[in-house]
Amino acid sequence: SPTLLWIRRDLRLSDHAALSAAVARGGPVIPVFVRDHTVDALGAAPKWRLEQGLEAFIAALEEKGSRLILRAGPAREVIPELVRETGAGAVYWQRAYDPASVARDTDVKSDLRAAEIAAESFSGHLLFEPWSVETKQGAYYKVYSPYWRAVKDREVAAPVAAPAKIPVPRDWPESAALADWHLGAAMNRGATVLSGHVLPGEAAAQARLGTFMRDGVAEYGERRDRLDQQGTSRMSEYLSLGEISPARCWHAGLRAQAEGKAGAGKFLSELAWREFAYHLMWHTPHILEENWREEWRAFPWKEDRRLREVRLWEQARTGMAVVDAALREMYVTGYMHNRARMIVASYLTKHLMVHWRIGQAWFDDCLIDWDPAANAMGWQWVAGCGPDAAPYFRVFNPETQAEKFDPEGAYRRTWIAEGQAQPPQSALDYFAAVPRSWQLDPAAEYPAPVVSAQEGRAAALAAYEQREF
Ligand code: FAD
Repeated sequence: SPTLLWIRRDLRLSDHAALSAAVARGGPVIPVFVRDHTVDALGAAPKWRLEQGLEAFIAALEEKGSRLILRAGPAREVIPELVRETGAGAVYWQRAYDPASVARDTDVKSDLRAAEIAAESFSGHLLFEPWSVETKQGAYYKVYSPYWRAVKDREVAAPVAAPAKIPVPRDWPESAALADWHLGAAMNRGATVLSGHVLPGEAAAQARLGTFMRDGVAEYGERRDRLDQQGTSRMSEYLSLGEISPARCWHAGLRAQAEGKAGAGKFLSELAWREFAYHLMWHTPHILEENWREEWRAFPWKEDRRLREVRLWEQARTGMAVVDAALREMYVTGYMHNRARMIVASYLTKHLMVHWRIGQAWFDDCLIDWDPAANAMGWQWVAGCGPDAAPYFRVFNPETQAEKFDPEGAYRRTWIAEGQAQPPQSALDYFAAVPRSWQLDPAAEYPAPVVSAQEGRAAALAAYEQREF
């Protein structure tokens, strides 16, 4: 009988355990993608990027003579329906770990098994299953360093190649057309600017990893924090949609390490930060929505999107150049440098005293590498309320950060048009991308900071000192 291969955020053909198992089971394989509530809940940029990824994945499947069946509706209804239509005897998929997906998958699995259909989930989105890493006391890890020590020498299976052939059914079930779903509809700048910064698909992912391993990883340790250099792997958008497996990245890192490339160890430890984020989300799913440390629930953060300071931050005109440059980079490219993410998050949660959830939601909407676990952990880390967080009183000074990590101002000039006689295209792209209602003008005078570095720091520390915990 056929196997339904339920595709989710795993848009690749190689190193795909569920696909390999489906092929090994014998019989036709029917790949299917379901547009359910977890897809509809995505922010504008991640949803647009998903459409790009699906397009590339469909092309890759078609090259193998296969297809991707598209259906919309609750997976709990759509999957059993497809089982009936196709006479499938098994449904295989790769595991997801966010609470909404876990709840859905648990239901689907038990329904299928009750109907005597072989329902199997496989690992592959992560290197280490979140429940498989435990302290000596059998608890989960709340701190990264001991987590890293626990996983760094673990065996990770080498990535496997894509199956040479994917057996196809005699008749394909009906499929919706991707274009009819309009997954990019909420994204006002997909075709105009974002598409110029995105190369979707598994082949592009592997090519980029190859380039980084050849030219970038050796100096990764020194360059990764520099805002004005392309010193990092840029694997995040591919990992987010599973266009590359973490095991492929891990093994590439191990090879580089064996070749004596200095930054390789650091790269591996960064991949483990991603694992740690999933470990935390799995064991404490409230990290997605609530202050991880309960005592922080009393902290006087402002949480109203209509506030002037929130609007200025979202629209990247706080007057703090490095903050605005970073927010504009994200708006135009869907990506923001890691150091810049920390700087803008710190400015929002400390200088402006705005709740991290507001910033998290803006990132949810703007990032093409959006990842629920990494985004939530990142915000709570900066805000000071997360498990292994930077202490709240360690307030990033955006000016000092800029001097240190963008010493000549190249990053700021790339993204801030105001004040430049001949601004670069990147900086102008921002003005072309924003809605007209924001009324931005590249020829306007660059604003003074909404809150200065010193003022903001003092206010944040005063609030911290008055806290009741
Ligand atoms: P590299 O430096 O080349 O690192 C390699 C890989 O390691 C990354 O692709 C990523 O998978 C992982 N990684 C590196 N740093 C981290 C980290 N701090 N946490 C978790 N994984 C990490 N990352 C996302 O993928 N999606 C998000 O939505 C996201 N939101 C963030 C929000 C905030 C406030 C902060 C501070 C960080 C966030 N990060 C997020 C983590 C980090 O900024 C990005 O993973 C990184 O910038 C991606 O660029 P890269 O692939 O070139 O990274």
